[in-house]
Amino acid sequence: MILAIASGKGGTGKTTVSVNLARVLGPDVRLLDCDVEEPNDHLFLKGNPRREDIVAIPVPQVDESLCDGCGECGRFCEYHAIVSFGATALVFPEMCHGCGGCLKVCPKKAIRETGHRIGVVETLESGNVTLVQGRLDVGAAMSPPLIRAVKARLKSGLPAILDAPPGTSCPVISTIRGADFVVLVTEPTPFGLHDLRLAVDMVRELRIPFGVVVNRVGIGDDRVHVFCGHEGIPILLEIPDDRRIAEAYSRGELIVEALPEYVAHFERLREAVLERTSTGLDDAGGVATRAAAPHAPLRNAEEERDGHGRP
Ligand code: SF4
Ligand code: SF4
Repeated sequence: MILAIASGKGGTGKTTVSVNLARVLGPDVRLLDCDVEEPNDHLFLKGNPRREDIVAIPVPQVDESLCDGCGECGRFCEYHAIVSFGATALVFPEMCHGCGGCLKVCPKKAIRETGHRIGVVETLESGNVTLVQGRLDVGAAMSPPLIRAVKARLKSGLPAILDAPPGTSCPVISTIRGADFVVLVTEPTPFGLHDLRLAVDMVRELRIPFGVVVNRVGIGDDRVHVFCGHEGIPILLEIPDDRRIAEAYSRGELIVEALPEYVAHFERLREAVLERTSTGLDDAGGVATRAAAPHAPLRNAEEERDGHGRP
């Protein structure tokens, strides 16, 4: 099972859900931090570094003695990473996607490829979790190739969580493509709802089953719940606005270790996801699971459906 954790915007609690779910998911879990511009899962899953691999992409190198400045390469490259300039062509490696197209269209065979480093993939062990994270070099702009290098560390037959970058752009698509299920993390605010709508459109376009985790319940309003109810989107877990969670987060601690009463809630999230990935339920399949504050009673799934206006 490959599970992706995504959110329409940053700061919603995507990391919190990823690392805590990884801890309770099973005995041998891979957590792939694909937020390669700012990986932070390692702050919560301390462990021993195992290896570091340099990742490079092939970028063109022009032999000026062969190039006549015809401009074919520049006309082909939709990223403007190579342009003819006078009698030769200039390459901007930071903008190159490494597709190799310019090499193929060059009539003078003046282009060969050379490796251009974009970052590293680091692997560390933390209890039941093997954490693999990409770290983009400062100044490097091409995160999708590094994300692909991180995802190449998926192991067949082992459960994996992909912690996606925030937003709905190319790096997010690169991350969640191929996942069996996507958990969208949001918060019950107008901004949260706005970005959740974008994220829902994205996963529907990709035709990946999904559900929602609402974080910091209690800080805003019920618009996210009403939206999910109208759209038939299952709310898999609600995490209350609990000051102790924020304190544990600021200390770099897992909720399930600092506040053991939350273990059962993340285990129910695990079961809700497993149920959907094993039965092939789609995004209208909804079983609600609530991670309530210790002082708040849990409601059952039927009450959740009524409360959220689902049919
Ligand atoms: S296509 Fe080849 S010959 Fe033409 S400008 Fe580019 S590198 Fe030079
Ligand atoms: S390899 Fe592809 S992206 Fe890079 S310069 Fe050539 S055509 Fe452009």
